[in-house]
Amino acid sequence: MKNKIGIFPGSFDPITVGHKHVILKAAEIVETLIVGIGINSNKKHHFTIEERVKWGKKTFLNHPNILVKKYEGLTVDFARKENAQFIFRGLRSSLDFEYEKQIAESNNIINKQIETIFLLANNKYAMISSSIVREIIKTGGNIDEFVPIDINISKP
Ligand code: ADP
Repeated sequence: MKNKIGIFPGSFDPITVGHKHVILKAAEIVETLIVGIGINSNKKHHFTIEERVKWGKKTFLNHPNILVKKYEGLTVDFARKENAQFIFRGLRSSLDFEYEKQIAESNNIINKQIETIFLLANNKYAMISSSIVREIIKTGGNIDEFVPIDINISKP
């Protein structure tokens, strides 16, 4: 959609091939897609915001309509600040759906101008999550198939 801006918020702790797949789909729908990497003081992130942003930027280096930014505070406020009309989220399962529905409905109460669009995970990637990647790192396994770039992780 011409002139439309979307955000794709998340922790990306770290970014996975599953994230990349849905983000590329979202980037085909809007003119500009902003991947918003959240700084959430209530959530314990395993990787620093600098690392998460660096890996996000590296992943989408060759995609000029995808920008990667960090943000703090409410996702709807970030969307408004970026002049976005849409928030994109990925769905892997019905569990994701129940959780995401609540958030989307709350966001809609706060800001009616911003619509949430859900994109289904590809079957091939539906079982991939940041927490699985962190678990593999912890146990010394190889994460190459799970992350989109060489993220050079030395610590979980
Ligand atoms: P959050 O902590 O905000 O849930 P995540 O980084 O875990 O952030 O996920 C960001 C978004 O990406 C969420 O909408 C999540 O459902 C989606 N997502 C995560 N993994 C996958 C995957 N393998 N396929 C599709 N979407 C995914």
